Amino acid sequence: MYIFQLKLKIYTDIRNDKKEDIMIVMKFGGTSVQDNIWIDKALNIAEAQLDKAPVLVSSAMGKTTDCILELINLAESGKMADSVPPFEELKSIHLLTAYSFLSGENLKNCETKLNTLFNDFISFLKGLSLLRECSSRSQDALLSFGERLSTTIINHRALERNMVARFLDAREFMLTDENFGAASPLMDIIDDRIRERVIPEAGVLLVTQGFIGSTQGGVTTTLGRGGSDYSAAIIASALSADEIQIWTDVNGIMSSDPRTVKGVKTIQSISYREAGELAYFGAKVVHPATIQPAVGNKIPVLVKNTGNPEHPGTRIEHILTGTGLKAIAAKKEITLINISSSKMLNAYGFLSRIFAIFEKYKTPVDLISTSEVSVSITIENTQDLESIIKEISLIASISVEHDKSIICMVGQDLWKDSRFISRVFAILEETPVRMISLGSSDINLSVVVPQEKADSAIQKLHDSFLS
Ligand code: ASP
Repeated sequence: MYIFQLKLKIYTDIRNDKKEDIMIVMKFGGTSVQDNIWIDKALNIAEAQLDKAPVLVSSAMGKTTDCILELINLAESGKMADSVPPFEELKSIHLLTAYSFLSGENLKNCETKLNTLFNDFISFLKGLSLLRECSSRSQDALLSFGERLSTTIINHRALERNMVARFLDAREFMLTDENFGAASPLMDIIDDRIRERVIPEAGVLLVTQGFIGSTQGGVTTTLGRGGSDYSAAIIASALSADEIQIWTDVNGIMSSDPRTVKGVKTIQSISYREAGELAYFGAKVVHPATIQPAVGNKIPVLVKNTGNPEHPGTRIEHILTGTGLKAIAAKKEITLINISSSKMLNAYGFLSRIFAIFEKYKTPVDLISTSEVSVSITIENTQDLESIIKEISLIASISVEHDKSIICMVGQDLWKDSRFISRVFAILEETPVRMISLGSSDINLSVVVPQEKADSAIQKLHDSFLS
């Protein structure tokens, strides 16, 4: 009896320890921190989870990054005078946000920091306009201000709300190479550096920037547009976080594009691979490449709506959750190329010659379907189509069809439901399907249809399978 109780106690202690150890990384995108109201929504979310030792990673406020790029453009082309109104607007958005919800010391400190940042920013910008040239290194320096401004405000607002908050400059731990504009984190040293500098603690909110980093020599870099998700995933993976929360302005990942399809729903749970297929086909979701560090460490990623935090959102997980169709995405403006040659019959090396031509012109191929004597290919980038046609014509006959769409149906083991394919084609009975691809991945059935038929076809498929 005593031994049993002892065992139970040890077990309970382990569980309790585990619970105390929980830590999360929450990333807020630009719309989630666009103004004072949204920043407070974001902080409500963080405050409610303070026991999970959160690290808050933020993007720049609203459209700040676009605005900075516009300012750089104007400065570079010597139109410094034209840059004054957008600069003043950017400055007032940040200062007014601070004035709206800060007071006393917090306001004073925050205002001083914001003014220093804006003074540094304008000096940089003036430098550019004199040189009439902006290197990607200077561009990164300027872009970094967006995230540094937003997190300065967020940190002071958290303090104003009596939260225990600490500001961390991501450039002290997000070490990258010198590929300015799209710098790669130095994976072999970054984990240790993060663990050294980012020390999560239950009850404390750590506030830091997404998107920005620095070289080992201390020069500011950025990870590329939309890089904040990547920052969050890197931090989460270094700290073995229990969860990454990506806070956006939509209720998670949708079963189709709500702008063109009626009745779309949030996908409750999706695997990394399924999410990857959707992202590839243009669905506006978290891109798997950006959460790769989380994938490697099997950290679940939750996509939630800052404007509607009660909504469960979507959970992206390592393990597969349920089979069957989960979502339908589309890629428009697709060109279909049909290549046929009797030389393909029982020949080898023919396909590689064809693909070498696409490789030569750096033209990515989306879908491929082959028979003994023909191959159909879809491409999106038609910049070098003329040259590609010319070269292929030397070895095969070729025909090209423009204005096509790929409809991509995503779900695990679609083929396991033997009626799935027949249902799809019954629904598409009045849609001329030009190409089909199933099997190259076990989670994707793609069909190529005329563009003008795509929206209605997707609607019918969605109504039948997902409503
Ligand atoms: N602010 C940067 C951008 O707009 C990074 C991010 O939001 O992820 O691309």
